[in-house]
Amino acid sequence: VECRIPAVVGGALEVPLVTGGRIGYANLDHAASAPCLESVQTAVNELLPWYASVHRGAGFASQVCTRVYEEARGKLLDFVGARRTDSVIFTRNTTDSLNLLGRALPRGTSVVVFDTEHHAALLPWTGPRVRRLPAPETPAGAVAALDAALADCPEGPRLAVITGASNVTGELWPVADLARVARRRGARTVLDAAQLAPHRPVRITELDVDYVAISGHKLYAPFGAGALVGRADWLNAAEPYLAGGGATRLVQEASVSWTTGPERHEAGSPNTVGVHALARACETLAANWTHVVEHEESLLHRLRAGLRDVPGLRELCLFDADHDRVGVVSFTVDGRDPGLLAAALSAEHGIGVRDGLFCAHVATRRLLSRAGSDSDRAVRVSVGLGTTNEQVDRFVNALRWLVTQGPSWNYEQVDGRWTP
Ligand code: PMP
Repeated sequence: VECRIPAVVGGALEVPLVTGGRIGYANLDHAASAPCLESVQTAVNELLPWYASVHRGAGFASQVCTRVYEEARGKLLDFVGARRTDSVIFTRNTTDSLNLLGRALPRGTSVVVFDTEHHAALLPWTGPRVRRLPAPETPAGAVAALDAALADCPEGPRLAVITGASNVTGELWPVADLARVARRRGARTVLDAAQLAPHRPVRITELDVDYVAISGHKLYAPFGAGALVGRADWLNAAEPYLAGGGATRLVQEASVSWTTGPERHEAGSPNTVGVHALARACETLAANWTHVVEHEESLLHRLRAGLRDVPGLRELCLFDADHDRVGVVSFTVDGRDPGLLAAALSAEHGIGVRDGLFCAHVATRRLLSRAGSDSDRAVRVSVGLGTTNEQVDRFVNALRWLVTQGPSWNYEQVDGRWTP
């Protein structure tokens, strides 16, 4: 396997500028959805002519698709370093995976979750046995808080919800330490790896977590597939997540018996192309980790160094400025509206970033207040395999210009969004 920085498609896209002309598009919103890898595009192109129904078809193309779909489970197991006994259930995305797990918990499970989680990890757990912990000050504080909360849980099954990397600050959580205290307190752990898995290797067995949730579209495979990987027992004992064809063993006039195994939760025709794309993205990343991590670290270093010179800029940090992180930076600039900055970066400079609270409302508000910001929203810029040094420099220069000189166009708010 050739070892290099994996290439993405769309690098040559040009977008119109409100000030006239066109410019190469700088997609600095990888944390929302990453561009498609070239290897994924090839894989999809190879499969599409063979595209046919999986599992139920007797024809040759159906057999090809069934094989591709089932082989993808093994590739996902490899990618997240899972136990060979773990289940791989294909879903739409991380949100879907975590909701599936939420529905599969044994009755009376206590759940402990930090309230700083992305909504996908915060909201799928309901009932009186859900305990939300406030944002910790330090990684060690997070471990101590989880330990104390789990010690306090009533008898019965327990689940700790852990995030690999924050989608607001990019900061890495101390996953192995959190999993260790959870294990000691008899709790299982689920890792929201939506932001971690595209940037760093995730090894279930080394981290000793029980479940991992990922999204294909953040892993450079933008075809609507995700996965929940983890221990099969709770999943096999739970009611099917979706009721329908493919999840049943036998249906009679007045009864239904469900299959066990991943199909139990995958009723309906599956997203074979998406799953194939996801598996190929996983293989590509796994073969090139050293280059992926080096590339992103150098971009992040360049980005943060450039941002230091922007007057009035406050970076959001949960732990501290030196804490290890993936390529995500959120910030505000004193006296500047984050939505207007994001709109002007796009309209005048062809740079795509994001503003708002990033589906982590509690977390982002808390971070804004910790940063002493006067704003109720932030700007987020995130880099990855589609990002170049030139784009980072263009972004930093454009931001500095907008902050010091102001936008060169007029904007008005339409439905809450700044529009040129
Ligand atoms: N968790 C984190 C940390 C995320 O960043 C995201 C996506 N922003 C999600 C969960 C949800 O992922 P998806 O929208 O693909 O379900």
